Amino acid sequence: MKTLVWVEHDNASVADATLAAVTAASKIGDVDLLVAGSGCRAVAEEAAKIEGAGKVLLADDTAYKNGLAENLAPLIAGLMADHDAFVAPATTTGKNIAPRVAALLDVMQVSDILSVEGDKTFTRPIYAGNAIATVESGDEKLVVTVRGTAFDKASAEGGSVSVEEVSGPGDAGLSSFVSQEIAESDRPELTSAKVIVSGGRALKDAETFEQVITPLADKLNAGIGASRAAVDAGYVPNDYQVGQTGKIVAPDVYIAIGISGAIQHLAGMKDSKTIIAINKDEDAPIFQVADIGLVADLYKAVPELTEKL
Ligand SMILES: Cc1cc2nc3c(=O)[nH]c(=O)nc-3n(C[C@H](O)[C@H](O)[C@H](O)COP(=O)(O)OP(=O)(O)OC[C@H]3O[C@@H](n4cnc5c(N)ncnc54)[C@H](O)[C@@H]3O)c2cc1C
Repeated sequence: MKTLVWVEHDNASVADATLAAVTAASKIGDVDLLVAGSGCRAVAEEAAKIEGAGKVLLADDTAYKNGLAENLAPLIAGLMADHDAFVAPATTTGKNIAPRVAALLDVMQVSDILSVEGDKTFTRPIYAGNAIATVESGDEKLVVTVRGTAFDKASAEGGSVSVEEVSGPGDAGLSSFVSQEIAESDRPELTSAKVIVSGGRALKDAETFEQVITPLADKLNAGIGASRAAVDAGYVPNDYQVGQTGKIVAPDVYIAIGISGAIQHLAGMKDSKTIIAINKDEDAPIFQVADIGLVADLYKAVPELTEKL
């Protein structure tokens, strides 16, 4: 089997999520990497060092600059003439590209795989992660997205392969890039943070969330997450959301504060190595998955904890 892994990047460096996808792809077969962007040769050279890669295909075109899925999908579908499986990390952009590739190839997509059990057999979560299905594809070509927390990251150093230039149809004329607003933060990114402090509806409003959660996160050099209730109520931006419709995280330590533990929230964090919950309701479902639970009023417990640290 010959796999093609889409390299996620910002035209400057390879995103971490790519490395887990490379590990998954190497369990399926030989790995070629696709770097599609604009002015992104440095990314291709960085990708060429990823351990396990066979070669790097570089598609450098202004049409690919902003990762528009409408432009990338035809390029990838064309390159699939020489590959058996397309593999992308199950990130926001990866999940935007892969289904379009599957549609162009007229195959089904296998989403969010947790393990590779055979050439075309995978496990994947269903029912918000409450059951794990083993699925086998009957299609000739595979399109697979990879849950980053389920695979070790391939080493970013150690490889040294060639970079080959390729081209595709370019601008499909279906969409155009208008603008983007990127939140600047010194904090570790949620999906790669070792420690996450997450707040829920109990934090009342944006100001209180900031006053209670941020000092603790600062002390622990932690990423900040939130439940959907906290996001919907406007305490924090959307990209803080952890869960079924948010980000899937698996840090060493996840601290859930004033979060009840609805299954949709658990779907995004229950693989964390150590889960600590602070909730005033001793029957809150979060305590069923917590390794350490504190039944307490967060407004007393969290400032105390922050001070003692
Ligand atoms: C299709 C679908 C997708 C969804 N996706 C997501 C998702 O991705 N992520 C997600 O999080 N949710 C998701 N949800 C929503 C989910 O069902 C819950 O509604 C949500 O997670 C609840 O958030 P919460 O725990 O902050 O609020 P609540 O359930 O209201 O819990 C608040 C908790 O705070 C505790 N509390 C209150 N005051 C204090 C205090 N002073 N001190 C200590 N504890 C206190 C309470 O005891 C309670 O347990 C989804 C729902 C649906 C239907």
